[in-house]
Amino acid sequence: MAEIGQDIRIAKEFLIKGELVGIPTETVYGLAGNALNERAVLSIFETKKRPAFDPLIIHTDSVEKVQNFVTDIPETAQILAANFWPGPLTLLLPKKKNVPDLVTSGLDTVAVRIPRHPMLLELLSQLDFPLAAPSANPFGYISPTTASHVNAQLGDQIPYILDGGDCEVGIESTIVGFEGEEIIIYRLGGLAVQDIEEIVGHVKITAASSSNPKAPGMLKSHYAPLVPLEMRRKADIVGNDASTAYLLFDSYLPYVDRNYQRVLSENGDLREAAHNLFAFLRELDRLPVKSIIAEWVPMHGLGLAINDRLKRASVQE
Ligand code: AMP
Ligand code: MG
Repeated sequence: MAEIGQDIRIAKEFLIKGELVGIPTETVYGLAGNALNERAVLSIFETKKRPAFDPLIIHTDSVEKVQNFVTDIPETAQILAANFWPGPLTLLLPKKKNVPDLVTSGLDTVAVRIPRHPMLLELLSQLDFPLAAPSANPFGYISPTTASHVNAQLGDQIPYILDGGDCEVGIESTIVGFEGEEIIIYRLGGLAVQDIEEIVGHVKITAASSSNPKAPGMLKSHYAPLVPLEMRRKADIVGNDASTAYLLFDSYLPYVDRNYQRVLSENGDLREAAHNLFAFLRELDRLPVKSIIAEWVPMHGLGLAINDRLKRASVQE
């Protein structure tokens, strides 16, 4: 198992040596390595068993540093960065040559984010390279939102996990790219579409199947528990099946054992629901049940991203 601690210096030393470290972010925990070191990047793909066609997001702590890795930051991107960085927003920008092709899966854009977790920002400020960091889970499984989630699945493959507590947002970043005048959302995430539209006007949302333009549809199944998951409207949930666990939005089912239910937010707060989503899915996945039924959450604010994750979790490969 990995050592879990709060020592930024230890994390930094492993990263400088080209080793991988579990890192906290406000979205989900990341499996981080030096983004400019091909060997480190390769071991990220190997550790996660992530296919090489699925590019990585690089993380740094200032727009000045971002300029070292991209050839241009379009005006709209600058406006979004000024409003939402640090935060759960990833921008697709034209890459400079110093970013290895492995990071971008050969694409000419690189995904960049300035996260807002204070411990990670401190670590990034002490590094003279950016961190490539996909979610710290085996490819396709539920993303981790605590250090112990990371340890449970990747702990025997990495030396250290920096413990920054529960992830505040709980779902991955919103990925935004630019084509001509168009602003395109490639992945729904922790920054709500309406917050973006308030600042820059109308955005286009691409088909939810994949955020990777080179692999349309290939990532349809993702974020998936081991127990098969199905989505239903509340009215269609009967709740009389002892071999089923339930992930509900804002209220419990009256006739079902509470141990077999999780309610994402009793106040119907979509932020709280996003925060709890992956941890609750993991808990239900450990129960001796044959299926998980998840309720659709309301389609506004972070509800779009929550339903997107659940929908993909429901696709079995
Ligand atoms: P993860 O870090 O595991 O949440 O995944 C990162 C996501 O960013 C993946 O779904 C990638 O497909 C997406 N991504 C990274 N770089 C690019 C890029 N240059 N163009 C489009 N999507 C990207
Ligand atoms: Mg992931």
